[in-house]
Amino acid sequence: MITSLRAEAGRRPILAHPKDIHCIVFHVLVVAAYGLAFWLYLHPERAGITSGVSKAAFIAASAIMLGWISGIDVGVNFHNHTHRRIFRRSWMNRWFGRLWTVTGGWPSFYWDYSHVVVHHAHVLGPTDWTLPRRKSDGTWENYYKYCLLHWPFRYAVHFWQDFRAGRGGKRLRWRAVKELAIFAPLWLAPFFVDFWMAVWLWLLPHYIANVVVMGAGMYAQHAGREAPNGEHSLRHSNCFVSKFFNYTMFNIGYHALHHTYPYVHWSDLPAKHVEMKPRLIEEGAHVVPFGYYRGGMLLAASAGRGSKRAHETFEAQHPDYVRVDESPDDGGVANGNASNGAADALPRSNTTTESRGARSTAGAYGKRVSHTKREETHGTESIDRRVSAASFVDD
Ligand SMILES: [Zn+2]
Repeated sequence: MITSLRAEAGRRPILAHPKDIHCIVFHVLVVAAYGLAFWLYLHPERAGITSGVSKAAFIAASAIMLGWISGIDVGVNFHNHTHRRIFRRSWMNRWFGRLWTVTGGWPSFYWDYSHVVVHHAHVLGPTDWTLPRRKSDGTWENYYKYCLLHWPFRYAVHFWQDFRAGRGGKRLRWRAVKELAIFAPLWLAPFFVDFWMAVWLWLLPHYIANVVVMGAGMYAQHAGREAPNGEHSLRHSNCFVSKFFNYTMFNIGYHALHHTYPYVHWSDLPAKHVEMKPRLIEEGAHVVPFGYYRGGMLLAASAGRGSKRAHETFEAQHPDYVRVDESPDDGGVANGNASNGAADALPRSNTTTESRGARSTAGAYGKRVSHTKREETHGTESIDRRVSAASFVDD
């Protein structure tokens, strides 16, 4: 009995949070899907792929499915890991992370840097180059232009400029070189197995994952919103509250909450969102009843066909989140959002202020606390150690 108790006391869980097992299972299934697709490509007779047409159909279906799940695996699943590491041991986080994003066409360090140091710390500010470019009048560039140009082209340029200029410090530059050296052979390996297999079932899915899935997601998350300022702090993101969407997407739809308090675990977001609902309403956060898929389609229709109706549907406030003191003259969709009104061009943002969201958390909602050093720990692993560029490099 005593021995078993001692063993129990000495046994430390591997995961920082028990629900993070979902993250690992999801990623393992993604890797398995690539493995299966590769095997079928190399053994076409086993799958009945006997003609050019059946091969084309197999490639098309596989590339779309692999691209879809890879986009979620990096843009949502790994994303959560960048804020709260899923293991208690640093080396596990580092190496699992490195292997995690290869199936999405990214070195993990680069995605982490762009999301935490560039996007969260400066959301909708002039130096947040992860988001669409803004015109002189504050409106965003076209949805399609952003999706088609950002990955990998603009990302490559910005990484080069940032690391070269030492935006994150000299050590960050060397870390970037090292991580690229680890990533390159892993990512190139399928090309040495079969070049065309890698083009159709590796490169093409990564293109779909980044351009169609993650590009659209990034656009939808902040389209039409404003950078935080002294008057409000929750209008920087669109909140997608479809239950089914959030249940199947690691709760990424609760985006205003996530950006304001990035250390809240993904599994806690629905409950915290309910807790925070009065403040969301009070501050005029934009909330919609659907998920990213519908949101992306509405933005695409608005950008592609100039659909006014699609724009209005995207901008319409969820009826449960309309401030009660709003005047009926506001059309019931006001809530103080910047881009309400059909005449507005899509989408507008304030480019003069920057969020400190990535460096903030809250013990209680309604109170933001600046992180200047390690404040929360979970075993040996800090919940978020990337409180400055200098510490980011050591992670
Ligand atoms: Zn985030």
